[in-house]
Amino acid sequence: MKFDAMTVGNHEFDDGEDALAPFLDVIQFPVLSANVKASAAAKVGDRIKPSVVLEVGGQKIGIVGAVTTDTPEIASPGPNITIEDDVRTITAEVEKLKAEGVNKIIALTHVGYPRDKEAIARIPGVDVVVGGHTHSLLSNTDPKAEGPYPTMIDNPDGYKVPVTQAASYSKYLGEFKVVFDDDGVVKEADGDPIYLDKSIEPDAQVLARIKELGAPIEELKAQKVGETTEAVDGSRENCRARECAMGNLVSDAVLERVKGQGVGIVITNGGGLRASIGQGQVTMGDVLTVLPFQNTVATFQLSGKDLKEALENGVSQLEEGAGRFAQVAGLKYAFDKSAPPQSRVKSVEVMENGGWVPLDPDKDYLVAANNYTRQGGDGYKVFAEKAKNAYDYGPGLEQTVADYLGTHSPYTPKLEGRITEVAAAQPAEAAAPAAPAPAEPAKPAEPTPAQPAPAETAPTAPAPAEPAPAQPAEAAPAQPAQPAAAEPAQTTHVVAGGDTYWDLAAKAYGDGTKWRTIAEANPGYRPRRLPIGATLTIPAAQ
Ligand SMILES: [Zn+2]
Repeated sequence: MKFDAMTVGNHEFDDGEDALAPFLDVIQFPVLSANVKASAAAKVGDRIKPSVVLEVGGQKIGIVGAVTTDTPEIASPGPNITIEDDVRTITAEVEKLKAEGVNKIIALTHVGYPRDKEAIARIPGVDVVVGGHTHSLLSNTDPKAEGPYPTMIDNPDGYKVPVTQAASYSKYLGEFKVVFDDDGVVKEADGDPIYLDKSIEPDAQVLARIKELGAPIEELKAQKVGETTEAVDGSRENCRARECAMGNLVSDAVLERVKGQGVGIVITNGGGLRASIGQGQVTMGDVLTVLPFQNTVATFQLSGKDLKEALENGVSQLEEGAGRFAQVAGLKYAFDKSAPPQSRVKSVEVMENGGWVPLDPDKDYLVAANNYTRQGGDGYKVFAEKAKNAYDYGPGLEQTVADYLGTHSPYTPKLEGRITEVAAAQPAEAAAPAAPAPAEPAKPAEPTPAQPAPAETAPTAPAPAEPAPAQPAEAAPAQPAQPAAAEPAQTTHVVAGGDTYWDLAAKAYGDGTKWRTIAEANPGYRPRRLPIGATLTIPAAQ
């Protein structure tokens, strides 16, 4: 297939000019963007043109390109490339082409379907818009389509402009026929995207090339990205039920990547974490085993109320071990799994100015997740429906985590009380365990969350013989979700190869015969088959 022109998208600038310039050097067709301005020092030189004029059937067809104006925030064009306003630069280029006698003009954009409809198709002189960026499937037959293919927009000059887009990743080929009248105005426009399924025979040469290019991918997987001091637990039983070390690693990596954009909260679906990472050297292949889905970092704005709804979704299917369980960064929450779904979240706090404050339902927060949940995956309908200014095509999740491991190597996994399970039948006001309990030892009778509730208010809570009521300050904020019977000095241990309860008891209590204490605190694990990477609760010495 022959290409007449392409435009650059934001991802062309992901790795700066060093990655883009060699690509521009080898391709044989025009690359267009009216709003990309390269300085004299730029490596891309003048390779990116504002427009091109093609001769088709004796007629001149003008094509003008443009890229999304937030490219500097979501990619890395570098100091020698400036991204100017799309509408202004397209308008100027259209005026220039019209002055040259070109009256059929296609805007070839990478600004997204909403902006194509609201702004680009309304530029006087633009006749057709071929877009990208929002990965929008437009179709006349697919019920999941965002709009018809083409979507007709009224131009203020009194004519209609067809807008097209054919999803993403060459999954579809947009086929589109347009008939112009003698004045260069669109008379007819119709088409549909063609789904490139198995019925399309792949090109043998391309297949061979893919195989050849696969070899360096194997090399990539062998690349060392960092080291860990301990195994990082990404086990299914933990990541879908309670705070897990892998959930914290992935969420922290995303947070670090986007905090420069003002994002302070990250939600990661536990089901997206597919493996643990062992202690020692970590390869890109290890990271890809944890995160095999090629998901991207997604950023958006969400109200506190909707954020709480998202957390309710996370704990709504605990019984099924559903992947929706929310691992978090920049946020703490507590839940009571005995409550009915959609009313299990008992407290939510967010980090503000270095301190934890309650979530404000009316406030808008900047949040990051992955593109899968942002688009409603794992039950996160609230993200799909309520997110504002969503951008789903940030860096790959696996690269984000690999980079983070690299800059924090050797990495030590951590559990720090971001997610707390509160026991059933506790008084409602006790359901704020994420905040360190105020140091008020003068009020020992008031139950703090990690303490056993008084028997008369919580008959179902296990009542240890010595409730130790006067230990308020260390009220277990740094512990994973455990029932209230756990005492403050409880710790956790991530299982490494060869670990036994006996050895762990010897280490924790100085007495291997006390191994049953650990076994009883970790129901569901078989003593001789401790899963590597699992997080065990180590109760305090009695
Ligand atoms: Zn894009």
